[in-house]
Amino acid sequence: MRIFEETLSIPINSIPRGTTRETFTLEMKNVPWGIPEAELSSEEGYLDLDIVRTEYEIIVRGFLEADFSVQCARCLAPVTVPVTAEIERMYSWNPDMLSDPEVEQVSHNDGTVCILDPVREAIILSLPAMPLCTEQCRGLCPRCGINRNIENCEHDFEA
Ligand SMILES: [Zn+2]
Ligand SMILES: [Zn+2]
Repeated sequence: MRIFEETLSIPINSIPRGTTRETFTLEMKNVPWGIPEAELSSEEGYLDLDIVRTEYEIIVRGFLEADFSVQCARCLAPVTVPVTAEIERMYSWNPDMLSDPEVEQVSHNDGTVCILDPVREAIILSLPAMPLCTEQCRGLCPRCGINRNIENCEHDFEA
C-alpha cells in the first residue's frame, strides 16, 4: 500500500483485495493536521493500518501513535502528550450503503480513501482535557499573572 502524507489518503489501486496490514512512518510536518489546540512534538508518527477490501467496500481500522504538545491548563507551559488515536471507518462504492452516515464515499475524483478527518478527530478526542506540566503545578497568579512555579509574588499568602 501507499499513502500520500499531504492528504493522508491511500490510493485505491494500491490496496489489494482481502486483508492488508501495514505500518507507515509519517513525517508529521507533511500532514495538514489543522489541530489548533495541539502542536506537533515528534517528527515521526506511526500509522498502523488494517485494511479489508471487498467488492463494494474498504474497511479501515488502525491507530496513529505520535507525540503532541499542548499547554498546561494552569501555567500555559508546553506539555508533551503521547497520543494513540484509534480509527475505524468504512468506505464504499455502493450507492445503497451511502445512506448510512457511518459509511463514506470512496472518492472517484482522485481514486483514494482519505483518512485525514477520522485520524484528526481521534487525535483531538485523545488529548487530555486538563493537561498539567506536573501534578504540583502552582499555575499563574490570578492577580499579577506571574508563573508561581518560577517565582513568588506578594499575593501568595492571600486567601
Ligand atoms: Zn503548569
Ligand atoms: Zn501575584
